[in-house]
Amino acid sequence: MRRLSTAHIVMNPHRCVACWACMDKCPKKLIGKVGFLGHKHVVFKDADVCIGCKLCIKTCPNGVFSER
Ligand code: SF4
Ligand code: SF4
Repeated sequence: MRRLSTAHIVMNPHRCVACWACMDKCPKKLIGKVGFLGHKHVVFKDADVCIGCKLCIKTCPNGVFSER
């Protein structure tokens, strides 16, 4: 299962500060939370439903998401 990329988007979870602003913006609600060893960050829960709308790129203040 892909967790860090979809057909349209790649993410760099190391840049994520867990503000969760992107989660509500994703129209397909495929962005989820994960946390290990004190670093909480986003993951793609269901990469296959991504429509490539790029709202995640526009929303994230830390450049976590980018186009493939
Ligand atoms: S908007 Fe960016 S920094 Fe905030 S939770 Fe989403 S990916 Fe992480
Ligand atoms: S491109 Fe759109 S559908 Fe895909 S993860 Fe980003 S906000 Fe969600």
